[in-house]
Order: sequence, then C-alpha cells, then structure tokens
Amino acid sequence: MDAAVALRIANWLAEADKPVVFTGAGISTESGIPDFRSPGGVWTKYRTVYYDEFMASAAARLEYWQQKAVGHSEFADALPNDGHRIIAEWEAAGRIHGVVTQNIDGLHQIAGNQNVLELHGTARQVQCQDCGARYDAGPLVAEFLATEEVPSCRHCSDGRLKHATISFGQALPREVLEEAADWCQQAGLLFAIGSSLVVTPAANLPVMTKQQGGRLVIINRDSTPLDAIADEVIGGSIGAALVAIDRATTRL
Ligand code: NAD
Ligand code: ZN
Repeated sequence: MDAAVALRIANWLAEADKPVVFTGAGISTESGIPDFRSPGGVWTKYRTVYYDEFMASAAARLEYWQQKAVGHSEFADALPNDGHRIIAEWEAAGRIHGVVTQNIDGLHQIAGNQNVLELHGTARQVQCQDCGARYDAGPLVAEFLATEEVPSCRHCSDGRLKHATISFGQALPREVLEEAADWCQQAGLLFAIGSSLVVTPAANLPVMTKQQGGRLVIINRDSTPLDAIADEVIGGSIGAALVAIDRATTRL
C-alpha cells in the first residue's frame, strides 16, 4: 500500500468525528474462516434451511444442526488476526466509535472490541426460539455430534434451539439495524472492510455516511458497487492495509 495513501487515511481517521468500522466475511479469511464466496466453504455446500422450515419441521432442525455442527468447527478455534487486533486497539484508544459487523464469528469481541453491533447475530451462542434462553454454542454442538440428536432447551423443557444467528427468511433485529444506521450517519469516516457490499443493509450503510458528508474508505480485494462513491479504495490484503494505516498514525 502506498505510504502517501496510508498517511492520508490516517489523517482522516485522526480528524473525523466518531469513525466507524464496518466489516464483512473478508476480515476473517486471514484467520482461516472462508468467506461467502470461497469455493468449497461450508456456506456454499449446503441447502439453505429457511427459518419457517426450521420452526415447523423436526427434519429441518436436524438438517440445520448437521450443517451448523460442521460450520462450528470452521470458526470455533479461529483467532483474531492483525486486522481484528488493530481495530480493537483503535477502539481502546478512542480513535473509532465502534464496529458494525455482518460476521457471526465473534472475533472482534475476542480481539477486545466492546462496542460491536452484530447485524446477523452470533454463532457463538444458541438461543431458544420458544423462551429466549441463551447458551454457549460449543457444548451443545459437542452434545449434538456425540448423540446426533438435536438438543432441546433445558429452561422450558423442549423449546427449539437454534444458533443465535439470523437465518434466511428471518428479519434482522430492528434495534440493532437502527443503531447501526445512527452510527453510520454520524460517522465522519466509515471503513467498509471485507464485504462485497452487494446485499442490504451492508450496501446501504456506507451510502448513509456519504449522504451525511462523511468519508468512505473501502478495503476489499474484489471491487464493489460502492467503489465509485468511495474517497479511497484499497485492494489487496486487509491485514496489510490496516497495518500500514496504523503505522501511518504514528507518523502524524
Ligand atoms: P462476502 O463473502 O460477500 O465478501 C467478502 C469480500 O471480502 C470479498 O469481496 C473478498 O474479495 C474480500 N476478501 C476476502 N478476504 C480478503 C482479504 N484477506 N483481504 C482483502 N479482501 C478480502 O462477505 P459479506 O459481504 O460479509 O457477505 C457474506 C455473508 O455471509 C454475511 O452476511 C455474513 O454474515 C456471512 N458470513 C460470515 C462469516 C463470518 O462470520 N466470518 C463468514 C462467511 C459468511
Ligand atoms: Zn426455552
């Protein structure tokens, strides 16, 4: 990454009101978690189990748990990478307001971020669809793998347990989405990192920042539909780009 570009972005970061980092699956590929488009990734291999099917049918719940048990092994032992670590340092130092993420892997929080809005929920937890009780996903996935039986809620006896992620056919949580929109509208600078920015709300959030006069920096290997309105577009490795920008902040 060009040193002058890194310095320019570091300056924007220092000047901007309440900068926000928005992330997609691409920030976690350097931790070994495949993104949506990676061939062979668990995300592309299976039939989608829609939320209504999950709720209506025990067979669909079994299929869902089989998929999620495989998916769990892809991220459960993953560790935050340089990109996650720098974003966590920026929050701790008060340089950014917080992180809005589409990811369900929990790596921003493990890296140390506290102000995180998870638009698609988290795969680190399981939630009872009947009483709302939440559990750590790990032990329940292990139990499912050992018994091949879908676990049921201990709190309300036989409630339907699903990962605490947003399934296809399920609405995004409105309060989380509204808060994300607020953050992005108030942000003087938005980093859109590792997202193809093709589906809403991902594609709308950076537009909101631009409409309110904020700057937009996109860091993504592939081009996105919002490149044309961005103030800077950086291809290549996300980790390397964030390291370069972070180093530049020390030269200000
Ligand atoms: P996406 O897969 O559509 O796009 C990821 C983008 O990241 C791609 O355009 C790719 O070019 C870029 N990228 C990947 N690795 C990169 C790297 N190391 N450096 C630079 N760029 C890199 O992801 P999306 O927009 O987040 O949409 C996928 C959906 O699937 C999301 O809704 C998300 O919830 C879900 N998902 C989540 C995870 C996770 O939690 N880690 C993983 C896969 C999918
Ligand atoms: Zn329950």
